[in-house]
Amino acid sequence: MKAIIVNPPAKGFELRDVQIQEDGIKIRILENGICGTDREIVNGQLSTAAAPSGYNFMALGHEAIGEVMEDGGNFRRGDIIMPINRRGCGKCLNCLIGRPDFCETGEFVEAGIKGMHGFMREYIRDSPEFLVSVPSDIRDIAIMAQPLSDLEKSLEEILSVQGRLYWKCRDGTYGCRHALVVGTGAIGILFALLLRSRGFMVTISNRRETTPRETRIFQEAGISFFNSSRGYPEPGTGNAFDLVVEASGSDASILPSLLSLLKNNAVLGLFGFLRNGVANLSSTTLQNMVYKSISVVGLINGQKPHFEAALRDLVQWKHMWPGVIESMITRRTIQEVEQNRNILLNKQPDEIKMKIIW
Ligand SMILES: [Zn+2]
Ligand SMILES: [Zn+2]
Repeated sequence: MKAIIVNPPAKGFELRDVQIQEDGIKIRILENGICGTDREIVNGQLSTAAAPSGYNFMALGHEAIGEVMEDGGNFRRGDIIMPINRRGCGKCLNCLIGRPDFCETGEFVEAGIKGMHGFMREYIRDSPEFLVSVPSDIRDIAIMAQPLSDLEKSLEEILSVQGRLYWKCRDGTYGCRHALVVGTGAIGILFALLLRSRGFMVTISNRRETTPRETRIFQEAGISFFNSSRGYPEPGTGNAFDLVVEASGSDASILPSLLSLLKNNAVLGLFGFLRNGVANLSSTTLQNMVYKSISVVGLINGQKPHFEAALRDLVQWKHMWPGVIESMITRRTIQEVEQNRNILLNKQPDEIKMKIIW
């Protein structure tokens, strides 16, 4: 079968015929989502990327939608599914109960990233245990369920941290809570939409003005935008947040400014990886964190319940914000990737989320 393969830590990728031995029911891949992690791998920038043992290549891709080719488990031929991308180490309790997002050994594998073949190929075989059903009326936007699953888990984790106090408002909602999401990539926008759908007031920021596409999305969903190119507001100038989510993956040096924006009892969530820089935290900043009961929490990887929650949210959002998720997705065919390798190597101008159609 044809597959997009990589050989980390080497740069580059190939589209060629490969043989992969695996068990489970046969699934024809319909489309793959592309994210920053895929691009780090093809550009040789992800040091943790590793081919599965016994192979000198790895099929890329951790975001996929496929069609079931044979009955198995609760699935029937013709069902549309999404495979879960992280699999447990088989040793620690969290992995054994289906929560490798909290793997204790760090020996989990991740499709197309670390120790497991990914989904950018014509067919995969997989156990029904690792598949979720995709509702047919959101098939065009369902590829977003993989990145959104990570954010469903992240929000669950943030709310669990905030279980340390009464964090809802007088009316029992989160309507009085103000969140800032830093970064307007697919993750930043999906996080902002998720928080809006849970009732939060949401501001999203980037170090530039919005594109027309972003402007329409933010207007439709009631999200405010802040251009942080000249820095964030000074502490005490009224712009303070109950929750700040770092989703830009840019530079660690922004952390002191983000911490200074937090209200009492607030949370700073770090999603993904800050690629460069150093955060210089003064004793005053650290004293403030203590004084204000600030929590900082690392956010990564959704599991099966979060994939299911993500798919339910996409069904709801399709009606709440018609056209918004659709407008985030650029479609490319596998032939286009073959003819123009740059599509996979580099984020294209005005791209929010790209998917490849097989
Ligand atoms: Zn990803
Ligand atoms: Zn584990």
